[in-house]
Amino acid sequence: MSNRDLDTFVDVLERVKALDPVNTRKWFDELSLVDFSGGQVEIGCPDDLTARFLEENCKSTFMQAAGQITGHLVSVKFSVKQGASRKQGKSGGEQTGPLLRLHPDYTFDNFVIGPSNRLAHASCVAVSQSPGTAYNPLFLYGTVGLGKTHLLHAICNETMRRTAGARIHFISCEEFVNRFISAIEAGKLSDFQNQFRTVDMLVIDDVQFLREREQSQEEFFHTFNALYNNRKQIILSADSPPGEIPSLEERLISRFKWGLVARIDAPTYETRIAIVKKKANLRGLGISDEISEYIAQKVQANIRELEGALTTIYAVAKASGEQITLVLAKQALGDQVKLAERQINISAIIETVSKHYGVRLADLQSKKRSQSIALPRQICMYLARNLTRHSLEEIGGHLGGRDHTTVMHACAKIVELEQSDAKVKTSLVEISKQLSKQ
Ligand code: ADP
Ligand code: MG
Repeated sequence: MSNRDLDTFVDVLERVKALDPVNTRKWFDELSLVDFSGGQVEIGCPDDLTARFLEENCKSTFMQAAGQITGHLVSVKFSVKQGASRKQGKSGGEQTGPLLRLHPDYTFDNFVIGPSNRLAHASCVAVSQSPGTAYNPLFLYGTVGLGKTHLLHAICNETMRRTAGARIHFISCEEFVNRFISAIEAGKLSDFQNQFRTVDMLVIDDVQFLREREQSQEEFFHTFNALYNNRKQIILSADSPPGEIPSLEERLISRFKWGLVARIDAPTYETRIAIVKKKANLRGLGISDEISEYIAQKVQANIRELEGALTTIYAVAKASGEQITLVLAKQALGDQVKLAERQINISAIIETVSKHYGVRLADLQSKKRSQSIALPRQICMYLARNLTRHSLEEIGGHLGGRDHTTVMHACAKIVELEQSDAKVKTSLVEISKQLSKQ
């Protein structure tokens, strides 16, 4: 390979970074030029996961960049470097089949630990260290964008790293259901069953998708039993705890609780700052404390939006050719800010109310009916109704499994008290202030 080819390659990489900062990663610097001939550039990647990431997310950008730099049409191929070192964290073993498509970013190394996710993180690490024995099944739950999928990928990544050849299936519950239906239609149910019942680790994301799907639940029940009895690891995630997934069969609910059920809450301010910094670092971008604090203040409930905010700021800076300053960051997030402010999450409401009234979180979520607990609980329902987009059923679910009429009644009651009871009114003002500060 000539030095000129190498120089061109370096220029192409720089151009890629400029064209697509969102998908740029720090490890792009580890890419190497394997071959540059016949209108094709072959790029060597540190491992299988990164090659796949580039193939799926960056191929067209690389072609565009190579075209711009060379002035010719260039096709791009990503390959795994021979004898590539498998670095901890980022790498995975060879991926086994279509049911293990892991994201190279979703590793334990790239996961920021805080009070909101400590237990979930620790249990995922434990499971990846001793699958089938630590906690089986492991059930993670939390609302959208709090890192469930990230942790599931991290377990798979880590397990692959530790045990070459481990048979892992990672699948969204939706895909599980779709495959099941196709298998029935094609008369290939036993193939389907073999595929799922002969793995070492089965990871199913978003199992709330099983709700109201009786036949899939039945099938999943048998899959679960087959794996469990063979001491194979089962890992599940959902947006709510097992008992609150609507119309999920009792026998599944009870099985989901056999191992460990770990909750992920919305991240605290400090954790959010650390996450923003981590994400910026992963993309090879510098970010000042001032700006990471600003983003962490503005975007609260959902980590995906935190990343989105970072991306928006960089995109605006790139487009305008300006330096990233606090003023630019504020301008860039103009729209998003409003959106984030509306998105207060229900756990934050429950927590704030419980602190305000000095009652225990568990009591608010219990069946207890004494007035000292009933009033704060009704306030939670009222605030959740007004500040979140949850349905009455969902709100009831978060507060001890109450039905929608109870929630409606609670809201009406608080509206009334807000007028007639000065104490309740002050409490509502204080709690709302507290919530908007978070
Ligand atoms: P969920 O599956 O719970 O909806 P995801 O796992 O898809 O959420 O997470 C959304 C985004 O937030 C992902 O990009 C993920 O990497 C990021 N994320 C969530 N929690 C963390 C964390 N603790 N540290 C770093 N990134 C996180
Ligand atoms: Mg997810």
